[in-house]
Amino acid sequence: MRSYGEGTQSTGVVQITHDLGRSVEDEDVLFVEDIVDTGLTIAHLLDLMRTRRPASVKVCALLHKPARRRIEVPIDYLGFTIEDKFVVGYGLDWGERYREVPYIGVVEHADLAH
Ligand code: 5GP
Repeated sequence: MRSYGEGTQSTGVVQITHDLGRSVEDEDVLFVEDIVDTGLTIAHLLDLMRTRRPASVKVCALLHKPARRRIEVPIDYLGFTIEDKFVVGYGLDWGERYREVPYIGVVEHADLAH
């Protein structure tokens, strides 16, 4: 799923870039998410998944930015709650950059072009 494109603000439009290749009916589904920000991506995924009738659905996220929440979503397993900063590294990118950085860093002046 993606909702960001190149920038540091969610577009609010959630795109599915890869869907599941098989049925998950009667299976236990665990979403592993890098970061929950507005909550729109996970909310959209949960809605979509319910139509596929899994036995259960749970959410795991490394990071959560509650300050920007637009919709309440359950996070069953959470690593860290963070403040409202745009972060990169550890798999998190900024327009496909910094994904490989081996720690989580804050982008200063994330509003400026990169
Ligand atoms: P949401 O739909 O909850 O607003 O956004 C979820 C997605 O937005 C995450 O999976 C991630 O791809 C992206 N995202 C949200 N906040 C950040 C951030 O601080 N840094 C990066 N690199 N991506 C973010």
